[in-house]
Amino acid sequence: MKSAQIRDAFLKYFAEQGHTVVPSSSLVPGNDPTLLFTNAGMVQFKDTFLGQEQRPYSRAVSAQRCVRAGGKHNDLENVGYTARHHTFFEMLGNFSFGDYFKREAIQFAWEFLTKVLKLPEERLWVTVHISDDEAADIWLKEVGVSAERFSRLDEDNFWQMGDTGPCGPCSEIFYDHGPEVPGGPPGSDNDDLDRYIEIWNLVFMQYERTADGELHPLPKPSVDTGMGLERIAAVMQGVHSNYEIDLFQALLKAAGDIVGCSDMEEKSLRVIADHIRSCSFLIADGVMPSNEGRGFVLRRIIRRAVRHGHKLGHKEIFFYRLVEALVEQMGDAYPELRERRETIESALRKEEEQFARTLDKGMALLEEALESLQGDEIPGELVFTLHDTYGFPTDLTQDIARERGLTLDMAGYEAAMEAQRERARAAGKFKQDYSGALELEGATEFLGYETTRAEGKVI
Ligand code: ATP
Ligand code: MG
Ligand code: MG
Ligand code: MG
Repeated sequence: MKSAQIRDAFLKYFAEQGHTVVPSSSLVPGNDPTLLFTNAGMVQFKDTFLGQEQRPYSRAVSAQRCVRAGGKHNDLENVGYTARHHTFFEMLGNFSFGDYFKREAIQFAWEFLTKVLKLPEERLWVTVHISDDEAADIWLKEVGVSAERFSRLDEDNFWQMGDTGPCGPCSEIFYDHGPEVPGGPPGSDNDDLDRYIEIWNLVFMQYERTADGELHPLPKPSVDTGMGLERIAAVMQGVHSNYEIDLFQALLKAAGDIVGCSDMEEKSLRVIADHIRSCSFLIADGVMPSNEGRGFVLRRIIRRAVRHGHKLGHKEIFFYRLVEALVEQMGDAYPELRERRETIESALRKEEEQFARTLDKGMALLEEALESLQGDEIPGELVFTLHDTYGFPTDLTQDIARERGLTLDMAGYEAAMEAQRERARAAGKFKQDYSGALELEGATEFLGYETTRAEGKVI
């Protein structure tokens, strides 16, 4: 089954179960200025769960474009290192707004996986929250999942939208990719490896947490689920890594042809294929590279992709040339991609041209410094110079450091930044653009954006 067919099958199955098909919303959340990007299917329904917005339906299904490249749900560092994390991905989700609850949510998910997609039960593992006897009974007694492939977990199975707001226990379904892949079952020490991959999270929105920390039962318990399309596509296509699915193979091939690399397992090629999706979709949704907020995240992703092309020995402007292949793969499902193609290409091209002017020099400076490096920490002064003079966001330098088993002296970097700030102040030359740069440094970790999604429990 191709990715597009899986997406269609999901929407169709839930439409047949009385769900209204709701289109994906923008990557820029319309209802929440505190959230960096849409990072789950539930984001566009947030106010409905809270009871602040009424909708003409109580069941919905969507295929939502998501970006997790900032804030608590930052998978940027995972890209190229795991088989299952992307900066951009599609989340398939079904939602109940005070309609059905645990029993139906579990039955729908199980039926879709085992009857529609025909996955073998022995490959599926299930977790519930440690306190959730009700969900445990449904799985074990009604669905008949084997106790050997079932476990109760704590933090991983409680989702909350923020410090306050709707929250509840969740139940997750994992797929076992088989003993040839390293990794242990959910809840074991090495469950973060790629053997048992989480495919679907069913959140039972059951409580509202108030400011005093208390949990109060919601008048209308609801359901919010999310399944990564690329992960389930890998399962359906009998491959282990998301990068081996139809869509990514096409993007990798296009990237390989452009930069002259035929090794489809090359990490840098994977990073480039991942990043063209997040960058193109962000631009299609109106984000432009800049020095702050969302635009700065976009800039960082573009520069990382460009650096990886450079690492593969490609010195010409290339990244924008991948938009064509992306439009071919995803333009049918997302017509806005096709419509805004020129805008996307020109923004990517401009950003790359600008960065290309300093990339070579910055890399030469870094290589030279690394040759005489004592120990395994890149000095903060150098990290700062790369940032300040050569346009290397710190996470880009971090990416290079990680490839070589090195770390960054972030305290030294902060000190160099502060010294620069002092000098600028003393000279009375606190220019607008420079203060912007300082501000974005604070925003690098996006502390201000996290108030709605706590503790990495998003679905
Ligand atoms: P993981 O533990 O693998 O990082 P998660 O618990 O962070 O996943 P959820 O927040 O529960 O993921 O999101 C629901 C589903 O979305 C996941 O079960 C997975 O299928 C998919 N998903 C989450 N993050 C990513 C990502 N970065 N790239 C691709 N798919 C993802
Ligand atoms: Mg995660
Ligand atoms: Mg998880
Ligand atoms: Mg999860």
